[in-house]
This record gives sequence, C-alpha cells and structure tokens, in this order.
Amino acid sequence: MIPNTNVDVLIIGAGPSGCVAASHLHNNGINIKVIEKSKFPRFVIGESLLPRCMDHFEEVDLLNCLKDANFEVKSGARFLKNDIICNFDFSKKHTPGWDWTWQVPRADFDNVLASELIKRGVDICFEHQVVDVIFNDEGISTTTIKDPLGNKYTIKANYIIDSSGYGRVLPRLLDLDKPSAIPEHSSIFTHVKDVRRPKGQEGTLITFDVIDKDTWLWVIPFSNGVTSIGYVGKTDFVESYKGSTSKRLSQMLQLSNYYHERFKELEYLFEPVYIKNYSKSVKKLYGKGYVLTGNSAEFLDPVFSSGVTFATESALKAAKLIIKESNQNTVNWEKEYTQYIKEGVDVFASYVKEWYAGNLQTLFFHRPENPKIKEQICAVLAGYVWDKTNPFVTKHKRIIKMIAQYLTLQ
Ligand code: FAD
Repeated sequence: MIPNTNVDVLIIGAGPSGCVAASHLHNNGINIKVIEKSKFPRFVIGESLLPRCMDHFEEVDLLNCLKDANFEVKSGARFLKNDIICNFDFSKKHTPGWDWTWQVPRADFDNVLASELIKRGVDICFEHQVVDVIFNDEGISTTTIKDPLGNKYTIKANYIIDSSGYGRVLPRLLDLDKPSAIPEHSSIFTHVKDVRRPKGQEGTLITFDVIDKDTWLWVIPFSNGVTSIGYVGKTDFVESYKGSTSKRLSQMLQLSNYYHERFKELEYLFEPVYIKNYSKSVKKLYGKGYVLTGNSAEFLDPVFSSGVTFATESALKAAKLIIKESNQNTVNWEKEYTQYIKEGVDVFASYVKEWYAGNLQTLFFHRPENPKIKEQICAVLAGYVWDKTNPFVTKHKRIIKMIAQYLTLQ
C-alpha cells in the first residue's frame, strides 16, 4: 500500500509539457511529483518541433540531453502544391531566435526528457493514473491515483499542473471542455521504414504536400531511418475512405503525385492511427489550485506544428507563476497566464483559419515570392508569435486575407 502523501505541486503527465514544468520547478527547489499513466517509451503524435521550443528546453536545462540524442535537425519546412515549392528557411526569419530544431519520434524524445529528470531526482510514477481530483475552498487538492495493480491512493497538493495532453484530466473532471472554433478536421497516420529515402537533403526534409485546400500529407523523416507519414483532411473526406486504417491510408497516399512512389506498398510499423476532430478548447485555463498546460488546454491543428511548442511555452509560464506565487508575490493569472497564452494561440488560430480558407495557401504558392513577407511569415512558423515588431503577428486577423485578396486581383 502506497502511503498518502503531500506535495507542493502535482503534475499530471510526463509529456513535453509536464517535463518542462517539472524541470523548472525542481530546479527552483519546489517539492513536486509527476504522475504518468503510461510506461515510457510510449507512442504519441506531434513529431515536428518549432525553433521557439528550443528557448524553453534551454531555459529549464533540458537542451543538452536532447542534443546528445542525435535527432534529425529541422532547419525549415517545405510546402508543395502541384509543381510549386514553398521552402521556409528558419535562418531567414524576421524575429531573432533559434533557426533550427528537431523532427523526432516522440516515444524516444519524451523518454529522453523523462529519463533526464529521473536522473536529477524528480519523482515520476509511471503507470499510475489520475482518476479523480477534488479541491477544497482554499484550492488544496486531493487527487486519487490508481497504481498498476489497481490499488488507489491519494495525494494532497497546493497546486496541480494538468499536462495530461489528450487525457484532458481536469477538463473532463471539472467540465471545462468547450467546442473548438477550428473547423472539423481529422487525421490518419503511421510510421514506415523509409527504404526508398533519397540521399541528401531531399531525404531528410520535412514536407507538407498540399493535395487541396483541406487535405494535406505530412512527411517527417527521423534520423533512425523511419519516417512519419500522415494525412489531414475534412472529417467527411477522411471518412469517405472505407476499410481498415491501413487500407484507407494506402488509398489516400495515391493522392500524392510527389510521394506515392516513395511510400507505396511499404509495411506500416503500426496499424495507422485515426484521430477524429482533433481540435480541442477549454472554458478556462486556470482555477483555484490548478492550471492547464499543453494539449490539455488547447489544440488547434497540426498544420504549423505548434502543439509541442505551446505545450512547453504554457508549461514554463505556469511553472514560473507558481514559483512567483510561492514567493508571496501576487499573480494575476488572467493577465499573466490566460492573456499571454491566448495572444500566441490567437495568432496561430488565425493562420490555421486562413490556411483552410485558402488565403494563406495563396500567399505561400504565389509567384514571384516577396522575400520580406516570407521572412515575417517564417518567424511565425518558427513559433515566435509574441514578437510585436512583426506585422504578421500584430495584424494576424486581417493581413493574410488582405494580401491574398490583393494577389488574386492582380
Ligand atoms: P502529451 O504529449 O500528450 O503528454 C500527456 C501525457 O499525459 C501522456 O504521456 C499521457 O499518458 C499522460 N496522461 C494522460 N492522462 C493521464 C492520467 N489520467 N493520469 C496520468 N497521466 C496521464 N504537435 C507538434 O508540435 N508538432 C506536430 O507535428 C504535431 N502533429 C500532430 C498531428 C496530429 C494529427 C495531432 C492530433 C496533433 C499533433 N501535434 C503536433 C500536437 C501534439 O501531439 C501535442 O500538442 C503535444 O503532444 C502536447 O504535449 P503535452 O505534453 O501537452 O501532452
């Protein structure tokens, strides 16, 4: 029987969000415990990172362990539409900051982070699942946890960081879910041993092959010879393909003139996963005694690979505010957390909406390219969405549509 314990901060989930929060709190002497439902390494989707998240890993001292793992370097992103190529190079972006990051098999990536934390003395309980949480009037929580044998025990905490990703523990328990404003799209994806991978840069480039306004294929090569492939499309469209997920993905691959030959008839390393209507949102990001970070809070769309970066951005911000509060300083959670996170989410939300409206695609594939506009968009795609010197950040609601309309009228 595990004794019931008290901690300052209980973190639910050991994905990138949970690990970044845990690292920052642990480095600052806060008594924490991480509860993780799975046994690591475990598969999760979200394999293309953005340069902005390098700032977070560096700040919480998790960059060196990641560098040692030799993941595939990502220095930009390529978008294809028929014969037109739109190549973003992170070294040519408006905002100063990191000009590279990685494309990673998340099982390995998340395992590197969690293993490093364990080495440093962070208490992570794998295969323990949070099943219930209650809060008293002061915001002190009592969390019920089920161990691998099915035994239940409780932990009292002054604060809970819910980094449970798709588990969405507190949104479910506290009825915080709300429909996402992003149109309904779904995805089907797997990994393949990329035996026909071309040599040189072509073989390692992360690419988004745009089939039509709503449908696109991602190709994310890893340094271990495996490549992630996945389709995104309107839910109705993805569901118009029938049969097993393997059969559906194989049929959909025929839509890609560019990649069909490379990936046809390859064995899938696991039965393709189907995620229906993946966008998520919540009514609020914090409450007395808790804060939501990463996917547990919000997920928009995979098209700009912003998920992990928002997970680490929100986790680091939440951890900093908890430390500030524990040092007896007042924290205005609405302003310092919700408004800050929402500012960045709103920029990406505009880009996602304009992508599926077709306007952003008009900008990407219009020729000739405008180098200045491209640098400004590139900074957004690198995750630097809080840079007020970038008009593609400050005017995100109007600028894409306006320029697309101008280009179409030319
Ligand atoms: P996760 O990484 O999901 O970690 C949450 C952890 O919490 C898990 O380990 C889970 O086991 C644990 N947990 C859950 N419930 C419980 C419980 N009850 N008790 C204890 N532990 C629990 N993002 C990108 O950045 N790049 C991409 O290319 C990308 N592609 C995507 C493609 C698709 C189709 C989708 C749907 C998403 C994609 N994302 C991408 C988003 C990405 O998957 C997430 O944003 C990211 O994984 C969020 O990290 P996290 O730490 O919040 O949660």
